[in-house]
Amino acid sequence: MSSRNCPSCGAPVSVDTTDCKYCGEKIAVAQPQQQGQQYSQSQQPPYAPSQQPQYAPPGYNPYANYNRKSKVTAGVLGILLGGLGIHKFYLGRIGWGIVYLIFCWTYIPALLGVIEGIIYLSSSDEKFHMKYSRK
Ligand SMILES: [Zn+2]
Repeated sequence: MSSRNCPSCGAPVSVDTTDCKYCGEKIAVAQPQQQGQQYSQSQQPPYAPSQQPQYAPPGYNPYANYNRKSKVTAGVLGILLGGLGIHKFYLGRIGWGIVYLIFCWTYIPALLGVIEGIIYLSSSDEKFHMKYSRK
């Protein structure tokens, strides 16, 4: 009951901490439902964390990603519908999308779409945004 595991990375953290010292994840103190960890309800600290998280890793802020295209969406579209250039349309590359569409009967765009989809999915968010995504 003196320790529990971080819900984000699974590292052991103390019960009364509000930050995982391993991954920086904010941890609510009083969350009896969290992963069914065994710590006594009566041992819960009387306070709850009041300050909002000040720290966010780069690319982790959901608002920063608000206008960004999803690399996962683009990757899945490329793999599943790449032959129709759907991922190109999604990324705002309308011209390329049309080219893919025109040549879809050759199956080459489908092949390229799969490759590009894998590249998208394996890229970091930042790299994907810089190289492929447009507002
Ligand atoms: Zn953690």
